[in-house]
Amino acid sequence: MAGEVESFDVVVVGSGFGGSVTACRLAEAGRSVLLLERGRPWPPGAFPRTPRETRSDGFWRPGAGLFGLWDMWSFSGLGAVVSSGLGGGSLIYANVALRKDAETFADDEHEHWPVRYEDLEPHYAAVEAMQGARPYPHDREPYASTPKTNALLDGARRAGLDAFLPNIAVSFAPDGEPPGAPLPPAPNVHDAPRHACRLCGECIVGCQYGAKNTLDYTYLSAARSAGAAIRCCCEATLLAPGDDGGWRVGYRQHLTAKAGHRAELLDPTDEPEREVRARSVVLAAGTFGSTRLLLSNRASLPRLSPRLGTGFSSNGDLLFFVRGADRALDPSTGPTITATARVDDRHSPSGREFFLQDAGAPTGSEWLWQAAELPQDLWRLRHRVRRQHAYAPPATARSPTRPETGSPGACAARRRPRSPRHGPARRRRDDRATAREICRARLHAGRRRHR
Ligand SMILES: Cc1cc2nc3c(=O)[nH]c(=O)nc-3n(C[C@H](O)[C@H](O)[C@H](O)COP(=O)(O)OP(=O)(O)OC[C@H]3O[C@@H](n4cnc5c(N)ncnc54)[C@H](O)[C@@H]3O)c2cc1C
Ligand code: SF4
Repeated sequence: MAGEVESFDVVVVGSGFGGSVTACRLAEAGRSVLLLERGRPWPPGAFPRTPRETRSDGFWRPGAGLFGLWDMWSFSGLGAVVSSGLGGGSLIYANVALRKDAETFADDEHEHWPVRYEDLEPHYAAVEAMQGARPYPHDREPYASTPKTNALLDGARRAGLDAFLPNIAVSFAPDGEPPGAPLPPAPNVHDAPRHACRLCGECIVGCQYGAKNTLDYTYLSAARSAGAAIRCCCEATLLAPGDDGGWRVGYRQHLTAKAGHRAELLDPTDEPEREVRARSVVLAAGTFGSTRLLLSNRASLPRLSPRLGTGFSSNGDLLFFVRGADRALDPSTGPTITATARVDDRHSPSGREFFLQDAGAPTGSEWLWQAAELPQDLWRLRHRVRRQHAYAPPATARSPTRPETGSPGACAARRRPRSPRHGPARRRRDDRATAREICRARLHAGRRRHR
């Protein structure tokens, strides 16, 4: 009824891992649930790829009219990237679903965990089933030939480390079907068809094919089917105790961001500011989002700890780049992470166990990695050209019918004089490589002259 304040058993703020599981299970338990998500829905094919799309849809900066995927936080000494959208961090995470090792549930003078591994075991199993988390199917082609996976497994073996294929929440084509095959239809919040993984390495910038089992396809779809109301583009701003022992939750609608999205995933009104009532509120807006919401409502929440917002730590991830590997690693082939090596306490320089994982990256990034190799390539080329020059016969001995420099035929037509240092096979290989490189250099020089 117009003017009446809506009321729910539970309002969940945020649709990442915390929010979507909670909303799903509460709705399945028969509670009336409203889930508020500030970001937009991201159906297959919607993720930004080109520079222009990234400028308009890449970043979350509502003040500048941008309602994109990545929300960048920056503090002195700490920076973080989190996601904004239906499915939260699952939209840009690397799909890995690891269980915490049983022996790390410490209970000693330094650390005390309120739960044991055995308490969590059935829940791990339930989440893995729901998220379709299973190891990369490395026992069959084409998955068995993924260069970065094989490199990590080989390297771990050579270093005497235990290596394994962790569970990843990705749908692969069944045996006998090619990558990218359509997945069996199943209801989802986008009402969109999904396809099996194409090994494109784009998981951390959003999967365009619906192959990643992100929360919108799993828990949020189940929550919706169980009757939960999902409202995207709705940013919670107010949290205050109500008169009846419950809560008042206020939110701002990002009206311009709503355009083109399914009505079922939006607030039915076009009121820019709204308020609802709830018996309970679950704050699941991520580390930064939840803290910010609490701090900005401190006046109405007098029992908040004065330490709220202090003592942050980033996660323990450390990214590094491999150069000069003994093979091409093709980082854009395969999902972002496929394999893990366990560096146990004995092998770890710090004395604390850590995991090493392959890290794929989208195809576009290959231009960066390969451009970084350019100076080395040019140096090698210079070396080869100098050697070539040293062996070249005098100009007068050259054939007058030699093709023009800059023509692709120029290289194929030329043969290097015999090198006294190498055998014939090696010389032929060298020759072909040198010819190709000189050919490229000449084409380039020719083009420059024509400009
Ligand atoms: C690149 C990357 C790769 C990662 N890979 C892995 C991995 O492989 N495995 C793994 O286990 N973890 C991984 N993580 C970490 C994982 O994504 C996070 O730990 C997880 O998403 C945290 O879940 P959450 O529910 O706390 O918050 P989030 O998933 O961040 O969800 C919070 C949601 O709340 C919304 N929100 C915020 N404020 C408001 C508000 N005021 N009103 C309404 N909505 C709001 C946000 O838009 C967001 O959707 C990765 C993270 C990143 C960035
Ligand atoms: S590699 Fe990642 S982004 Fe590419 S199809 Fe597979 S799951 Fe999707």
